[in-house]
Amino acid sequence: MIVNHLPSHVGIAIVGGGPVGALVAERLQAAGHSVLAIEAKLTAPTDPRALALSWASRETLMRGGLWDDALAPTAIERVRVSQAGTLGRTELSAEELGLPVLGFVVGYDKLAALALEQLKSGKVPLALGYSVTDIRRLERYAEITLAGPAGETAITADLVILADGGKLVGLLDDITQTVKPYQQHAILARITPSQPHRGIAYERFADDGPLALLPSGDDFNLVWTQTPEQAQERQALSDEAFLAAVEARFAGRVAGFTRVGERASWPLALKTLDSVVGRRVALIGNAAQTLHPVAGQGLNLGLRDAETLADLLAGVPGNRVGEAATLARYAKLRSRDAGRVTAFTDSLIHLFESPNPLLKHVRSLGLALLDHVGPLRRGFARRMVYGAR
Ligand SMILES: Cc1cc2nc3c(=O)[nH]c(=O)nc-3n(C[C@H](O)[C@H](O)[C@H](O)COP(=O)(O)OP(=O)(O)OC[C@H]3O[C@@H](n4cnc5c(N)ncnc54)[C@H](O)[C@@H]3O)c2cc1C
Repeated sequence: MIVNHLPSHVGIAIVGGGPVGALVAERLQAAGHSVLAIEAKLTAPTDPRALALSWASRETLMRGGLWDDALAPTAIERVRVSQAGTLGRTELSAEELGLPVLGFVVGYDKLAALALEQLKSGKVPLALGYSVTDIRRLERYAEITLAGPAGETAITADLVILADGGKLVGLLDDITQTVKPYQQHAILARITPSQPHRGIAYERFADDGPLALLPSGDDFNLVWTQTPEQAQERQALSDEAFLAAVEARFAGRVAGFTRVGERASWPLALKTLDSVVGRRVALIGNAAQTLHPVAGQGLNLGLRDAETLADLLAGVPGNRVGEAATLARYAKLRSRDAGRVTAFTDSLIHLFESPNPLLKHVRSLGLALLDHVGPLRRGFARRMVYGAR
C-alpha cells in the first residue's frame, strides 16, 4: 500500500523492496508489527539473472505470498555435476530426497516485479520512490534520511532492516564489510537446446571456469564464469562460435544448442561483514552477504535470513525489536548457515580454478565419492535445498 504521507516514527523500517525485503515486510506486517517498507525504484528493473531457488525457498516465498504463476517457474528435477577432462561426475535428484522437485528456476526480474507489486497492492505501508541516503543510529532509535518525490525528509524507527542489496552498509560505523573481487565475470545468456532439457540442470567445471545451465521454459539460462578478458572476447563472438565454445566445454554431456539470445556480463565479488547486526540495525539478503553465483545460493541464503528474522521478531514485543539482545539472537541464529554456505561457495571457486593436475585428480575423486556414497550425496543435496542449519 503506497503511502502519500510518511509517518514520523515506525517500529521497523525496511530499506529495499526486492525479494528479501518484501518477504520480511510481509511477514512482520502479518505478525502485527508497525512497519514501513522503503523502495527507491518505481518499477522493477529489467535484469538477465535467472535464479535457481530450492524447494525450501519456494515454500518460504509461498508463506510470504511471493509465489504465483506470473513467475513462470521451471522445475529442476535433477542436477548433474561434472568436471572436464576426468570421469568425475555425480547427479542429485529430487526422488532421492523424497521431494517432487529439487527446486525451480525463475527470472530475477519476474520475482522482483512480483515483490514490488505485492508491496504496492498489499497491506504493508510502502514509501515508493524514496531512496535512503543516510542512517544515524542513537541509543533508543535510528534516524533515516530519505530523498523522494517531496524532497528530503527524515523519520525515526526502533529498528532498521537493511535489505538494500548491500549499497548502504558503508554508512554503518559499527559494521565492517570485506570485499574480495574474484577477477571473474559471469556471462549470462539464454540458449536453446537441440533436445528438451527434461528439467535437468548442469554444473560443469571446465578448465577455464565453471558453467551452469539452468532449465528455463524450453531453454537453458547459461551462467559462464571466466576472466574479464575472456568474457569480453566471448561476448564479441558470433552466435555460432559462442554456442560451439559452450558445447565444447560440455564435451557431449549436453546434446547441443541451436540459438543464443542476448549476452550480458557481470563482475563477481564476495562481500562479507564482521557482523550482520549493529546498533538498531539488522542486515539480510545481499546486504548481509553477496556470494559468487557458482552454486546458486545467494538468494536461497537471503530468504533464510529474512525468514529467520521474521520468525524471531514475530515473538518480540514492538518496543523491544531493536534491542541489542534481540539482534544478537538473530546474528547467532544465522551464523552457522551463512558461514558454511559462504565458505562452501568460496572454496568451490578456489578448488576448481587451480590447474594443478593433482588437485584435478582429487576433485574427480571427490565427485566420484559423492556419486557412489548415497548418504554423502543425499546429505550434500539436502544442504543445497535446506541450507546448513
Ligand atoms: C549472475 C548471478 C546469478 C545468480 N544466481 C542465483 C541463483 O541461481 N540462486 C540464488 O539463490 N541466487 C542467485 N544470485 C544471487 C541473487 O541474485 C541475490 O542474492 C538476490 O537478488 C539478493 O536479493 P536482495 O533482495 O537481497 O537484493 P536486491 O535484489 O538487490 O534488492 C535490493 C532492493 O533494494 C532497493 N534499494 C537499494 N538501495 C536502496 C536505497 N538506498 N533506498 C531504498 N531502496 C534501495 C533496490 O532498488 C532493490 O529493489 C545470483 C546473482 C548473480 C549476480
